[in-house]
Amino acid sequence: MVFIRYVKILVSNDDGYRSEGIRRLRAALTGLAEVTVVAPDRNRSGASNSLTLDVPLRVFESEPDVYYVLGTPTDCVHLAISGLFNFEYDMVVSGVNDGPNLGDDVLYSGTVAAAVEGRFLGLPTIAVSLCTQTDAGRHFETGAEVARTLVQQLLASPLEGALILNVNVPDVPFASLRGFRSTRLGFRHRSERVVPARDPRGRQVYWIGPAGPQQDAGPGTDFDAVAQGFVSVTPLQIDLTRHNALNVVANWLEGLNG
Ligand code: MN
Repeated sequence: MVFIRYVKILVSNDDGYRSEGIRRLRAALTGLAEVTVVAPDRNRSGASNSLTLDVPLRVFESEPDVYYVLGTPTDCVHLAISGLFNFEYDMVVSGVNDGPNLGDDVLYSGTVAAAVEGRFLGLPTIAVSLCTQTDAGRHFETGAEVARTLVQQLLASPLEGALILNVNVPDVPFASLRGFRSTRLGFRHRSERVVPARDPRGRQVYWIGPAGPQQDAGPGTDFDAVAQGFVSVTPLQIDLTRHNALNVVANWLEGLNG
């Protein structure tokens, strides 16, 4: 007798549980797996890998298998895989984000953070972002279909050595995509300056400015793949150690050790 256990996928995002991207993603993955949504109650884009430690977290069920949390994307995934449920998930799929997460964006991204938080589960985790730029396009169904395709591929053909996949999808109909490319992260220029403004009571406030333009967007980068109409798939790692600077720093510290 063959024992078939359904794959359990946790879906989260940083745009909030009501966003079009996460609704499309949930619909696309249903049928491939048992899908549960645990996502922030509101837009928490830019939340990065932040945990709420000073207040308790509250979880609400909006409909069967859809939960929202007054917290960050990382809070949501952490809760979901560390005690909210009495079973284990196999993977986390995050998105479909409204906007790209290319190059340095991944440092700030709540979409990527949600996927990163699921890195110890059985299957590689996936963060999917749709490269929306204007109000035109907004092909979230394309992002969701890309996610479904990649999950299907992971189930059919296990991917050793890759824990986190950062996926960026051109904002075009699925049939117009030119294919999939494995990429490295590019780099952006320094971000734009903050934007000063006044609140309605005349007090000074500041808006964080937009991300900088692309600096390293050459062949092989995520920027380049998306610009050419390909789905960009970047394997990420958590180890931020700059290994080739270890000796430099060791020598630099030598004088301090007497
Ligand atoms: Mn977002």
